Amino acid sequence: MKRVGIPRALIYYKFAKMWEKFFNELGAEIIISPLTNKKIKSDSTRLAPNEDCYSTKLFFGHTMAIKDQVDYLFIPRFGSENKDSVGCPKFIGLAEVLRSMFPDLPPIIMPHYNMAKGRDGKLSFFIKAYKVGLYFTKNPFKIIKAFKLALREHKQYKLELIIDEESLLKWEQSVLSLNDPPIIEENERMLKIALVGHSYVINDPFASLNIRKILQNHGVDLITSEQMPRNLIERQIDKLNFALYFDYEKEILGTIMHFIESKTIDGIIHIMVFSCGPDSIAGEMASQFSKRDSKIPLLQLVFDELTAEAGLRTRIEAFIDMLRRGAKEKPIYIATKVHV
Ligand code: SF4
Repeated sequence: MKRVGIPRALIYYKFAKMWEKFFNELGAEIIISPLTNKKIKSDSTRLAPNEDCYSTKLFFGHTMAIKDQVDYLFIPRFGSENKDSVGCPKFIGLAEVLRSMFPDLPPIIMPHYNMAKGRDGKLSFFIKAYKVGLYFTKNPFKIIKAFKLALREHKQYKLELIIDEESLLKWEQSVLSLNDPPIIEENERMLKIALVGHSYVINDPFASLNIRKILQNHGVDLITSEQMPRNLIERQIDKLNFALYFDYEKEILGTIMHFIESKTIDGIIHIMVFSCGPDSIAGEMASQFSKRDSKIPLLQLVFDELTAEAGLRTRIEAFIDMLRRGAKEKPIYIATKVHV
């Protein structure tokens, strides 16, 4: 049985279910790197180019964690799954960078997929997936079946993750819970906060310094930007007088714009990644929108490899304390880009 290694970083957090189903159905053994830990972080910072963002650096450590256990590494060169927006250029270049920096790595399977500018579509997606399948089996029926089931898995994952506007309303009214229930002390008011950022940060407990748990323990009922209804995000982004080109930043900025406008929650926490170009655009715009309409406090935190949990806790506790003291009633703008 051939073993395929998938680094648990970057777009793994978007496509994990699909990839795992595909390779499972092909009969491959899948080795996924462990959850980010101290060793992965230290390897990442030692090996990755200094100028890379923290999230890209972590990809290096995750790759090194599994490289000796697998026959192939699977690192797709992912451009976009939309016609009018793109992911990050890092997603496209990373496989080649790793191969050229570390020639001893196992062979890297690196299909390139990019729907933007109409280059790729359903057919080319199938052809590329088929070619990947050939690394593991020569049986065309097996590959076709694996492809179909993987697509179904991805659709189901998105259905479960992304809510509709009715569910958002129910969450805002505390009729529906979307994440782990908050732990509320006696006489404490539950807070509603939107946690906004890249899925590979907010879903990685180590990289995000357990921010979700910290918030949960402080009585916060969360919604994340990746859970937000897509049509609502599109409507917000349509209000901009220019085309925002980055997928993730649409999700991030659309979420922030919605809650600044709707005023249905207590606050917004925006996690940015140090030296991320797209984040610097969305972050600046979010802070401008927040300054113009400052009823919903916005806390922007910049994460990098030096970020420490104690610093984060202090910021979060101060923010929550302020929200509890009723800052929502007073116009208040919190901060832009606080390095924690
Ligand atoms: S979008 Fe930003 S955080 Fe994500 S990989 Fe690109 S530069 Fe890094």
